Amino acid sequence: MQDANTSPVLVSACLCGRECRYDGGHASGGTKLAKRLAELGARAVPFCPEVEGGLPTPRTPAWIESQGASAVLRGEDRVVTGAGDDVSEAFLAGARATLKLCQDQGIHHAILKEFSPSCGVATTHVNGAPINGPGVTAALLAQNGIETEGI
Ligand code: SF4
Repeated sequence: MQDANTSPVLVSACLCGRECRYDGGHASGGTKLAKRLAELGARAVPFCPEVEGGLPTPRTPAWIESQGASAVLRGEDRVVTGAGDDVSEAFLAGARATLKLCQDQGIHHAILKEFSPSCGVATTHVNGAPINGPGVTAALLAQNGIETEGI
C-alpha cells in the first residue's frame, strides 16, 4: 500500500504497467521497480512523456535522427519516425511537461525506461540503433537537476 508521506518519484508510466508504449504494450518494472522504490522510500508518480506530448498509442517507433538528445533540446537535431515523420515537437512538449510535473510536485528523482528515445537514461536510440546516451526527456530532467536512473 502506498504511503502518502513517502517522497514522490517520477516513473515512466509503462514501467508501472500502463499500456502506453509505441506498440500499445507496457514494460512492467516488476520486482526491480518495487525494490528500488522501497529502497528510496518513495511512491511512484507515473508519467508518459510521449503520450503527454500528444502522440497516439500505438504509434510508429521513433528515434533521435543523428546526434543526440542534447542536440534535439538545442534545436540542432530531430526526432523522426521510421516512416520519416518529424515528431520533434511532440517529444519536446513531452519532455517539458515531464519537467513541469517534477517542478510542480517537488519531484527530484526519476526512474525511467532504458532504450527509449524519451526516457532512456544510459541508452537511447539514434538512427534506429541503441547508443550510449539519454533520451530527450531524461536529458532535460538531468539538465534541470533531477536525478535520473534507468531500468
Ligand atoms: S515515453 Fe517513456 S513512459 Fe512513455 S512509453 Fe516510452 S518509455 Fe514508457
